[in-house]
Amino acid sequence: MLRIGVLGLQGDFREHVEMLSFLGVETLVVKLPEDLDLVDGLIIPGGESTTMGRVMENVGLKEPLVEKIKNGLPVYGTCAGMILLSKRVVDHDQPLLGVLDTEVERNAYGRQVESFEVDIEIQAIGEKPFKAVFIRAPRIVKHGENVEVLAEYGGDPILVREENILASSFHPELTKDTRIHEYFLRMVEK
Ligand code: GLN
Repeated sequence: MLRIGVLGLQGDFREHVEMLSFLGVETLVVKLPEDLDLVDGLIIPGGESTTMGRVMENVGLKEPLVEKIKNGLPVYGTCAGMILLSKRVVDHDQPLLGVLDTEVERNAYGRQVESFEVDIEIQAIGEKPFKAVFIRAPRIVKHGENVEVLAEYGGDPILVREENILASSFHPELTKDTRIHEYFLRMVEK
């Protein structure tokens, strides 16, 4: 049986664990480098990317995680998770995993009070629109040609995939719609 790790250093990791448990998947809250050896895929939650990045470095998780991802570990980052996966952040120096060929601008969709929901179309998960929740979300301002755009909003990519890496600027874990998590689970099964 698959076991999916959820990085539990900071942020809304519990909501991801709940959604995966609802789908009948075994989960592990990943806090230490050795936890990485016990999982078939990893979700990096929303939260504060600067804090998460620093803690990742402090506990020695960053380098082994980069290695794992480069060796094919399927990983899905939501919001702050997407920032951490990216190669570059506009006008900001912070620890990054730098495995996804994207450049992001933080907080580009407004402040916390300007959080919003919008129905978006994602062909890869079916016809029914998906309610995307944006909370101080990053915008992808540049991406490499190997980055596949699975959904857009206002002309910018908001759900992307590059091989074993999936990333969204919004938070599916804060809805009841499990389809993006199921899509990620299919990536892990392969
Ligand atoms: N603004 C946060 C950051 O830059 C991300 C917000 C979120 O994950 N909801 O890290």
